[in-house]
Amino acid sequence: MANDLPYLIGWAALAVTVSAVIFRSAYRLGRDAEARYHEKLEEHRESAFYYRGLNYLLSDEQDKAIEEFVKVVRINSETVEIHLSLGNLFRSRGEVGRAIRIHQNIIARPNLTAALRTSALYELAEDFRQGGFVDRAVEACRQVLSVDPDHAKTLSSLLMLHESEGRWDIALQVLQRYKKVTGTQDPRREAHLLLRIGQEQMEGGTPQDEESAIDRFRSAVRIFPGCVEGYRLLGEAQLHQGRIGVAINSFATLQKTRPTHFFLVVDSLLRAYTDQDDSIGFETFMVKAVNEPSASARLITLWSRYLEVRERYDEAIEVLQVGAVKHPGSIGVAKQLILMLSRMNRWQEAVGVAQQSLDHQLSRQPVFQCTQCGFKAQDIYWQCPQCHQWDIMEPL
Ligand SMILES: [Zn+2]
Repeated sequence: MANDLPYLIGWAALAVTVSAVIFRSAYRLGRDAEARYHEKLEEHRESAFYYRGLNYLLSDEQDKAIEEFVKVVRINSETVEIHLSLGNLFRSRGEVGRAIRIHQNIIARPNLTAALRTSALYELAEDFRQGGFVDRAVEACRQVLSVDPDHAKTLSSLLMLHESEGRWDIALQVLQRYKKVTGTQDPRREAHLLLRIGQEQMEGGTPQDEESAIDRFRSAVRIFPGCVEGYRLLGEAQLHQGRIGVAINSFATLQKTRPTHFFLVVDSLLRAYTDQDDSIGFETFMVKAVNEPSASARLITLWSRYLEVRERYDEAIEVLQVGAVKHPGSIGVAKQLILMLSRMNRWQEAVGVAQQSLDHQLSRQPVFQCTQCGFKAQDIYWQCPQCHQWDIMEPL
């Protein structure tokens, strides 16, 4: 797949490394004019491989380029760099087995500097990770960190590995260290790791487990106040403890911190209000939420369904009509409104809503597409603005 970005980056990195090595060895050849003849000859031959390899690389003949670089058998500090890049290149091409062999060979060299050994171990960990050998990847990461505990890229890989294993508590520890080393924050990730840990604690079933799970959920929403799942889990756990008012507060907070996603906890909120037999409380809350400028189309549709189930059709229609003005692009709101109007035999209005909705959809729909590159537009371009081919757009 010659168009893959990591693949291109792999080639670019190799080209840069090879150029640097050629420059350095040319410099060395010039400087060491007194050096012994056979040594010079060997370096000449080595340089010849580099030059040929680089030429192949530049003319995009990858297999031949790799062949030339593999011929560079004399390992000094520079060729290790080339082998590192070669291994990475194989990995980016999906040839994980070859990448692993190359990186393992580098690590086996006795005269390796500590820095290069760490780099090779890190690359090996990446090979294992991308090859799906999780245990061996974790082991390689641990080896890097035993030498360099602040190796940021390794911490990042290890974090992904522990996430893929579902070892949330260790993943969180690694994330904390990564944060310290790099100074970057990732509140969404941290919050979700805390939630997973809390969910596992909930499974313990004792009141103490529940308490410490709630602590985790609380930390999660403190770190990331827009955490939908955090407020849902927190509220559900509080409901389970019978603390209905507190639970309602938890669900309701999301309406302020992430109104676009609030509809995801409406079911839980309704259950909480039903538990304390307070449908008026629920309705008051919902009417206010639906009339906020931030009310999403999904929230409006949900609220209209609640009214529909209770046969309050006129109210439902009114809510949807306001919703259709606010969200003219929402097919969900339009469909529900058409259904409700039809149910009330208000056919003409239903047809009007259908027409408006379809007009709106059409106005946003591309009409032509480039058959070469896939570029879409509402007007026809005789020369594609993206790939510059002439007269290549077809109607969709
Ligand atoms: Zn095009």
